Amino acid sequence: MEFRSRLVGALSALVLLSLPACGNGTATGPVQPAEPGQEDEQLRSDRLEMVERSIAGLIRDERVLQAMRDVPRHRFVPEGQIGRAYDNRALPIGFGQTISQPYVVALMTELLDLQPGERVLEIGTGSGYQGAILAELTDEVYSIEIIPELAEQAESTFSELGYDIAVRQADGYFGWPEHQPFDGIIVTAAPDHMPQPLIQQLAEGGRMVIPVGPTGSYQTLWRVTKRNGEIVSENITDVIFVPLVRGRA
Ligand code: SAH
Repeated sequence: MEFRSRLVGALSALVLLSLPACGNGTATGPVQPAEPGQEDEQLRSDRLEMVERSIAGLIRDERVLQAMRDVPRHRFVPEGQIGRAYDNRALPIGFGQTISQPYVVALMTELLDLQPGERVLEIGTGSGYQGAILAELTDEVYSIEIIPELAEQAESTFSELGYDIAVRQADGYFGWPEHQPFDGIIVTAAPDHMPQPLIQQLAEGGRMVIPVGPTGSYQTLWRVTKRNGEIVSENITDVIFVPLVRGRA
């Protein structure tokens, strides 16, 4: 199991690596014409099939699996990518950024072990997909995105789909001090070291899931837990994420 998850992590990393740096999501043609209802039904069945095929054997938490079945990932990708929304792979969302691979989203969410009513902070809103998954598990979701256009786009997707998620445009390295402490913090872009402000904003018993490592190579996915004020770090697997960029807060 340990080996298997490392292998899958490495595979997901390769998928992320092979993405064009600046894909803006217009590479594929539109989905085949269909009645709106029919189209939704097809996408829903593609989604359920993806969860069964690529995620259910590796992720045990039933609440996470249900969230993956419920959130319409196709609403978080650029129109030209809708036909690929239920491939288990990362996709370009513009501005050199990606929506993470569904398996990686599920793995990080499972590691967070969120309980209903807990408060969670995401760094790197991106498309908003990971945020929506979190919102299926708890009511208190905060998310920070450094690129203004992505923050705005994600906010409008959240309101179209009825997700109540607080989005802030800032450098997430510093967390969101006004709303600390957080029971969960999930970082979806990789810094080259553990951000101390995020560790400080973890609640007692809180979990942070974060990739840390150099840009352009594998990073290590860590789960950091605060217990009795002490930090316990677990090395989970190798991954590749876009870098956490600094200084445009
Ligand atoms: N969670 C996203 C994945 C987005 S990719 C999703 O589900 O789609 C990582 C995102 O982190 C990008 O949108 C990038 O702009 C953002 N990011 C990079 N550095 C950041 C920083 N310092 N603070 C906040 N967001 C950052």
